[in-house]
Amino acid sequence: MASVPTVDKHTVSERNLDFLCVPRARVVEIVTTSGTTGKPLLWMLTEADVHRLAVNERLSFACAGLTAGDTVLVAVAMDRCFMAGLAYWLGLRELGCGIVRVGASSPTLVLEMIERVQPTVIVAVPSFLRVIADKARETGFDLRNCTVKKAVCIGEPIRDRDLTLNASGRAIKSAWDARVYSTYGVTELANSLCECDAGAGGHLHAEQLHLEILDDLGQPVADGEVGEVVATTFGVEGMPLIRYRTGDCAALFRALCKCGRTSPRLGAIVGRKNQKLKFKGTSLFPSMLAAVLEAAEGVEMFVIVARKENELSDAIEVLIHGAASVATLREALQARAKIAPQIRHVAREEIEALQMPPLARKRRTFVDLR
Ligand SMILES: [Zn+2]
Repeated sequence: MASVPTVDKHTVSERNLDFLCVPRARVVEIVTTSGTTGKPLLWMLTEADVHRLAVNERLSFACAGLTAGDTVLVAVAMDRCFMAGLAYWLGLRELGCGIVRVGASSPTLVLEMIERVQPTVIVAVPSFLRVIADKARETGFDLRNCTVKKAVCIGEPIRDRDLTLNASGRAIKSAWDARVYSTYGVTELANSLCECDAGAGGHLHAEQLHLEILDDLGQPVADGEVGEVVATTFGVEGMPLIRYRTGDCAALFRALCKCGRTSPRLGAIVGRKNQKLKFKGTSLFPSMLAAVLEAAEGVEMFVIVARKENELSDAIEVLIHGAASVATLREALQARAKIAPQIRHVAREEIEALQMPPLARKRRTFVDLR
């Protein structure tokens, strides 16, 4: 395997449609990637690829314990060229679940359908699950005692590197009184890895995908160590990929899972490879600092700013708004993230401007000025 070169997102982006391996007449679905790291890629699927996607999601939802007896709210966009909503719908159909395509635009509609349909599961982005919980509080809707007892969380992390729930995961679990499952999907791989009840990483479906975790030099890292997720697809007709560097960093665990499955599990995505920070001889991801700041008392808002200092170290500054003391935060960061960056109190507006620059689609807590 190591003698086959890897391919990165940049190359795939530059030669996007050169990766299509079938005549256009065989293409039945055309979607785009989310484009969080540049221009969204076009991705094309044949009929067999769509079926493979359905099988993948059936296996993934089965991991989370879903059965034909479940009624599932798909609170994810089915349109806007996304693959995810389509994939979940196909997989749930394969499982025989009852599906309610509520979408991701109206928390009021979600609450109304919970009341009327009494679903058992919701599939959504964590930030939308929190928006629904806010709406429930505001309107006096008793979310904790509703019928939804499982939340399949997509697109944003709900766990820290040690697989314990992060602030977002804990908030969802508590507001919904539901079991939360993390699922990680990549459009280009037409694949997702979903957690089982053990919550110890997303199970890989080895008949569809091969994963390697590589270090900065392209060498495999030890079991449980974080590196770049590199994937090879099996069974794809339209746009198969061999040793595709996803740019996402996570660990792979190969030991037997508590659920009895022998398949490897992919841990929490700790960050993008190009976000990795160098700081006085150690390297770390902004997500490690963000996890500490999210859990800290008296931090209403924050943003982490990285600048280039020299070849060996980046300058990291944390801007916060809230009552927390700089000394206490420095201590917490030193203890949990092993570094003590500059911390500065600033006005809410300054953080808002950094978090949401013009034309940004997503609020960010990390600003890279290197
Ligand atoms: Zn398991």
